[in-house]
This record gives sequence, structure tokens and C-alpha cells, in this order.
Amino acid sequence: NPLARARYLLAAHTPRQLPPDGGFEVAFAGRSNAGKSSALNALCQQNALARVSKTPGRTQQLVFFDVTAGSGGAAEVAPEDARYLVDLPGYGYAKVPQDLQAHWQAFLDGYFGSRMALRGLVVVMDIRHPLKEYDRQMLGYAVQRGLPAHALLTKADKLGRGAAGNTLQAVRRELSGAFGDTVSVQTFSGESKLGVDQARDVVGGWLQL
Ligand code: GDP
Repeated sequence: NPLARARYLLAAHTPRQLPPDGGFEVAFAGRSNAGKSSALNALCQQNALARVSKTPGRTQQLVFFDVTAGSGGAAEVAPEDARYLVDLPGYGYAKVPQDLQAHWQAFLDGYFGSRMALRGLVVVMDIRHPLKEYDRQMLGYAVQRGLPAHALLTKADKLGRGAAGNTLQAVRRELSGAFGDTVSVQTFSGESKLGVDQARDVVGGWLQL
């Protein structure tokens, strides 16, 4: 599993703090508590990888995890060989001041609008509460850019198999109606590891790993 190489690299609060825009990266989005950290940890086979993203007061940042091949990571390869997972802040944390919000929105718009390295977006949704406004917004960002997106319906272990399958079908239908075939979806569980291999294949494919 190439994603098991993941190591925390940096947290960017401003565009200048982003790593060079040369390689391949996949961004992860989700409402807070959706299960995004658990999903990242499961994909990377690590227990506390995404914990850093949740440090209180540090929620308005893009957290980069390095999955570049080789022992030295991105620091030791040409920029075009760098590979990253990018953890976007969970939506729905404590309220932030209006001006900070505007700054953050501009940063995120810029990142989504022009980051060449960005090859795909994973949106993590609690299978019991899928396709909230924020999720649709993030999927819209990606599709507008012509980027593929993949939705994880996580915590599927909390539903019976039948109910999970029904939700999957309903969400798939709705996504294809709203976004066409650039958005795919699967059931997932960070707890039971359901769907972890499938999600790894999608992310690994986008990263050309
Ligand atoms: P984040 O805020 O999106 O990063 O969410 P977390 O990964 O921290 O998960 C939020 C809560 O949901 C925690 O209590 C997790 O233990 C729980 N959780 C996350 N993923 C799963 C899952 O697949 N199954 C179950 N049963 N609980 C999960």
C-alpha cells in the first residue's frame, strides 16, 4: 500500500506556504465528524496520521501528507515526482471571525481554481447524513474544474447491509443527475475497513502511484 508511506509534511495557511505546484495530489474534504480523519488513517494504515489536522485553532489550513516514493519523500525528488494527500479543514467547527472566513474562502477558491497538482477530490460523508450543502459545494468545485471526485459513504458499519446498499444507490443516482459521471461513490468504514481497498485504488490511480 503506497499510501502507508504518508508522513505529515506541513500545514498551509496562505498560498505562499503551499509546496511547489509540480506533482500530484488528492484532496480530502468532509464535514466535521463525518469520519474524514478515520478514513485517512485507514487508507494510510496509521493510527494518528490525521490528528494534526484537528488541533483546535488550526482548522483553517491545508494539511499536506507526503506519500512520495523513496525514503526521502518529496524533499529528495524533482517537484513533478512529489505526491501528496491534502486534508482540507472539516466544515462546521467553532465559528471564525468574518474577515478570517473571507481570507480562507479566497485561499480555498484559489487552491481549487488553479492548483495544477490537484488531480482529484475525495468527499467523506457520514452514510447516515449524505450530500449536505457543504458536500455538494465541494463536489461542485471539483466538477467545475473538470476534476474527478469520489465520495466515501463512511460509517457504513452503522447500517445494515441492505440499508447501506439502498443509500449507496440513492446517492449514486443523485450524484450522476447533478454531476454526471465525473463523481463516483462507494460505501466505506474506517472501523470495519469496508471499502478501504477500493478507495485506495481510486486515490492511488489519481496519484499515479
Ligand atoms: P472527522 O471530524 O471527519 O475527521 O471525523 P473522525 O474521523 O474524527 O470521526 C468522528 C467520529 O466518528 C469519531 O468518534 C470516530 O470514532 C467515528 N467514526 C469515524 N469513522 C467511523 C466508522 O467508519 N465507523 C464508525 N462506527 N465510527 C466511525
